[in-house]
Amino acid sequence: MDSLPQPRDDLRGLKPYGAPQIDVPVRLNTNENPFAPSEAMAEAVGRAVADAARDLNRYPDREAEALRVDLADYLAEESGVRLPSDWIWPANGSNEVMMHIFGAFGGPGRLAMGFAPTYSMYEQYARETFTTYRTVSRGPNFELDAAMVMAAMIGGSPDIVILTSPNNPTGTAMPLDVITATCAMATGVVVVDEAYAEFRRPGTTSALALVEANPNLIVTRTMSKAFALAGARIGYAIARPEVIDALRIVRLPYHLSTVSQAVARVALAHRGELQAQVELLRSERDELVRWLRAAGLSAVDSDANFVLCGRFVDRHRAWQALLDRGVLVREVGPEGWLRVTVGTPEENAAFRAALAEVFALDGMMEPVEGSAG
Ligand SMILES: *Cc1c(COP(=O)(O)O)cnc(C)c1O
Repeated sequence: MDSLPQPRDDLRGLKPYGAPQIDVPVRLNTNENPFAPSEAMAEAVGRAVADAARDLNRYPDREAEALRVDLADYLAEESGVRLPSDWIWPANGSNEVMMHIFGAFGGPGRLAMGFAPTYSMYEQYARETFTTYRTVSRGPNFELDAAMVMAAMIGGSPDIVILTSPNNPTGTAMPLDVITATCAMATGVVVVDEAYAEFRRPGTTSALALVEANPNLIVTRTMSKAFALAGARIGYAIARPEVIDALRIVRLPYHLSTVSQAVARVALAHRGELQAQVELLRSERDELVRWLRAAGLSAVDSDANFVLCGRFVDRHRAWQALLDRGVLVREVGPEGWLRVTVGTPEENAAFRAALAEVFALDGMMEPVEGSAG
């Protein structure tokens, strides 16, 4: 053969998705939990993996039954919504859960809709499943109300509507009445991506409360953020068993390894110690928002473990100036804004010190206007 084999036409010239993984002292760019698992949890993981190893000649439990029971218990405790374990579907990160959703409910000739600015991976799930993906803009402060969702859906009824709450990269949570209204109007599935749900502020309610009453609602969650388990790749969907059955059709057989299932169960058993970290991160987040505003910047209200702030005249220059000071944040969202993940108190202090230097530089900041901050 003379020439190299070529991938599909629609993939030519594309680059793999991913935030830069740069080794600097303060990494606040991918919304990870900054706290590593405790020594006790690391040892428990080691023991569980050793036990699982004795069985590795066998394929994993295809249905991950024990893990689903543990997840159901966790959700009942976390949000007060008790659902049977067959309403829960785990996979390798909520990324894979979303691929199952797109695989089952998207596809050629089908439409998915998201509300920008939002998580850029949705576009890739659509591309890999040959689903058409359309985004509609959020309001001036990145909010989304029922009228806006309705207006967006009038043009063509989507097979998949994605409501990200809290939204990435803005941190904006969605009121339950907007989700209820969307479910009532939608002819396809409504996915509420709750990757950051555990960080929500008091008074913000999880969409889990709506799953029982809305047969077309799917809530997705992950252990990558609040559970400090990004490296293990565990996410899950919550929906009616009929919807879960559709996801089970498109999953690859034995998709979730015995080791992954065991590690996830250990992390769930240690949720007490993780909860304390979540509390700390929430109060650090609120403190960061207050500090940014007091310093004269705009900061979007956040129910997540990150804050979108600005506005910078040239955000790439600001990003680079922070990096030069050892702090890596994310250049994402609308022009002029940067997203910073809430880190440990020390990391947040380092970010504030670096940012104070950066916005003192000439011509760095746009004057604050509007009500986002
Ligand atoms: C981080 C994130 C996820 C989580 O992905 P995993 O595959 O579970 O690590 C999902 N949705 C959004 C909006 C995110 O920001």
